[in-house]
Amino acid sequence: MGLLQEKEGWEQVVPTLQPINSPAILAHWRPLVFLWDKLSLEQRGAINQLELEPGLQKPAPIPAIHVQGSNVTEKVPPEVSGFDSHFHPDRLNELSSGVQDVSKSILPGREPDHYVPITGGVLNYCDPLNFSHPEFEEQVLGRIIDSNSKLAIGIHPKQAAEYMQGQWECFLKLLSNPRVSAISEVGFDFTVKKHLWRHQKELMDRILSLGTLGRILVMHLRGADDGKYSKVVNRLALRRLKRECLPHQRVHLHCFTSDVSMVHAWNEAFPHCYFGITGKVRSFNEDQLAALREIPLNRLLLETDSPHLKLHPGCTYNTPYYLGDVGYYVARARGVPLAEIIGATYTNAQRLYC
Ligand SMILES: [Zn+2]
Repeated sequence: MGLLQEKEGWEQVVPTLQPINSPAILAHWRPLVFLWDKLSLEQRGAINQLELEPGLQKPAPIPAIHVQGSNVTEKVPPEVSGFDSHFHPDRLNELSSGVQDVSKSILPGREPDHYVPITGGVLNYCDPLNFSHPEFEEQVLGRIIDSNSKLAIGIHPKQAAEYMQGQWECFLKLLSNPRVSAISEVGFDFTVKKHLWRHQKELMDRILSLGTLGRILVMHLRGADDGKYSKVVNRLALRRLKRECLPHQRVHLHCFTSDVSMVHAWNEAFPHCYFGITGKVRSFNEDQLAALREIPLNRLLLETDSPHLKLHPGCTYNTPYYLGDVGYYVARARGVPLAEIIGATYTNAQRLYC
């Protein structure tokens, strides 16, 4: 810092962070990290491209961060980008602003281990309180101009006993908007008290009775045995969908955690059924890993479900920025390169949603 002060002719003081008393402090790593964090990805890229002053040497590249317990460093070519097939902008907005743009990086604590640029995603609004807001249509639907950002609207099963008739009507109105691609989240969440389950069955029947109007059904199927295979709720939903929907119904099984038998059952009943994998993959047991390997590559989707399911202990919440890290665990489980998973899931999401 002394040399910098001398070179630039700044006042000779001992630079301190508190208070900041010299521009020389900009050479300290703390202000640099602070400023770097404020830059967009494009700005960071532009800095990386800057030519050095003659006579100076380029610093050695920072070594890649390794995932604990692994010595595999996965690189994704710059032309490969990711699609986050399931996240919640309304919930993210409560934690951080400006998440309508899926490609915008939001860093709630640390860099991802496996950075992948995100160029598309499905924005899920399944809290009636948020989508029945009078300005929702204008603020959300009106602003989605990017053809790679898709909208999914619905009433989460956990809200089945609470939603109001007015909110149901709002949901119906939004469904008639061609910008809404999917109904989300439909299904069962039996982690709530047993006496509430019947409301979830009634809500699902009510939704299915509409006919799905060509929309994708995003299924939330979480059994009372959460962490296991949720087979009871998978079977219940499968039976209802077989009864109410045509076999060519497009289905997106959000946060799939079940076993091989359920991969086969869904695939056989609905050839256009896709399996969304979240960060829960990190704690999959052997049966769940076998199911993950059984999913046809052209039916696999990646999801962050952000801000839920945070991946790193150092983060305050999850964001679509960590999609590459979810992809890494999927790639490792299937024994294929990360780029293959990112590329395939992007293509699959385009086929399903776009
Ligand atoms: Zn979700």
